[in-house]
Amino acid sequence: MEITKHPSRQRPNTCLVCHQKTLNWLIEDTDTSLSLCDKHTNDFIKRQLDPQAYFTLRAETGVIYLIHEDFYDPYTGVALQPVDRRS
Ligand SMILES: [Zn+2]
Repeated sequence: MEITKHPSRQRPNTCLVCHQKTLNWLIEDTDTSLSLCDKHTNDFIKRQLDPQAYFTLRAETGVIYLIHEDFYDPYTGVALQPVDRRS
């Protein structure tokens, strides 16, 4: 499944994970609109957030599809099924 992101029409915001200024991205196919910087949006889409980012995001959003327990170990935050898009 190819997931894409679009800037929403909301005003600029700060990243939920690292708090730098960013747009509010609408993550397509997930019914999720999140304020994440470019790096954290891409890591989120590719299911490869680092453990600290995973725990920070989970604390903000609760468990949502792209961070549910098949994709991240709920105790260690280790990404279990990162999407490999190297080409
Ligand atoms: Zn960030």
